[in-house]
Amino acid sequence: MKTVIVTGSTSGIGLGIAENFAINGFNVVLNGLGDEKEIETTRARLDTLGAGEVTFHGANMLKPDEIADLVKTTEEKFGAIDILVPNAGIQHVEKIEDFPPAKWDAIIGINLSSAFHLIRAAMPGMKERKFGRVISIASAHGLVASPYKSAYVAAKHGMLGLIKTVALEGAEFGVTANAICPGYVETPLVAGQIADTAKARGMSEEDVVSEVILKAQPTKQFVQVGQIAALALYLASEQAAQITGAALPMDGGWTAQ
Ligand code: NAD
Repeated sequence: MKTVIVTGSTSGIGLGIAENFAINGFNVVLNGLGDEKEIETTRARLDTLGAGEVTFHGANMLKPDEIADLVKTTEEKFGAIDILVPNAGIQHVEKIEDFPPAKWDAIIGINLSSAFHLIRAAMPGMKERKFGRVISIASAHGLVASPYKSAYVAAKHGMLGLIKTVALEGAEFGVTANAICPGYVETPLVAGQIADTAKARGMSEEDVVSEVILKAQPTKQFVQVGQIAALALYLASEQAAQITGAALPMDGGWTAQ
C-alpha cells in the first residue's frame, strides 16, 4: 500500500487530491491549517473511503523543523513515503511598491521553500527504495505573470525550477518530479467571489465568470478540483514513470496564448 503526503489538504485543491488518493486505497497524510474539530471530521470521513489509513499532521509550512517532523512521523507510521504533493499556498495581490515584505516572505516560505524542505527530508527514503513521485501544485503563474502578484509569480516560477532539478537528481532512482499548473480552479472561495462581484457590478453570475474572472482562460470555464486530482493520481502511477521534470498546464488554454 502506497503512502502520500498532501500539504495544505484541509481545503480546496489539496483536499480534493487527498480524497482521490484515499478513494484509490492509498495511505494519506493530511496537512494544513484550520479548525481542529473540522479537520478531524474531514480526516474521519476520508478514512472511510478506501483501504488505506488517513492521518493528519499539523506542520506549519513556514517551519522547517515541523516539516521535517511531518516526514519523520509519516515514515515511522507507514514505513515509507511514496508520493509527495507540495500544494500548500497563499496569495497576496498588491503592486510591488506597496507589497508588504512580510507577505513576500510568507508567500516564498509557504508556496516555495516548504516544498524544498519537504522534498529534502523525504528524498533519501525515496532514492533508497527506488520509487518516488513528487507532484507539486504550481500554477499557470509558474509559466506566465500577472500584475500585482510578484511574490506568487516568483514562487511558482521558482517551484518549476525546483521540480526540474529534483527530476534530474531522482532520474536514476525511480523518482519523478512534476508540476501541475492549473488556471483558475473552482473552489468555494471563488464561488463566493462570483456572487459578490455579480451584485457589485450588476452583472449576471455567468458574465462575471466569463468577462471578469476567466477573461484570460479561453475555455471560459473553471478547472475542476477533480480534474487536477485525476492528473495527480495518474502522475503517481507506474504508467507515468517517464514523465518527469514536466510543467503540465491545466488551464483551459490560458498559457497557449
Ligand atoms: P485553499 O486556500 O483552499 O487551500 C490552501 C491550503 O494551504 C489550506 O489547506 C491551508 O490550510 C494550507 N496552508 C496555508 N498556509 C499554510 C501553512 N503555513 N502551513 C500549512 N498549511 C497551510 O487554496 P487552493 O485554491 O486549494 O490552493 C492550493 C494550491 O493550488 C496553492 O498552492 C495555490 O497556489 C494553487 N493554485 C490554486 C488555484 C486556484 O484557482 N484556486 C490556481 C492555480 C494554483
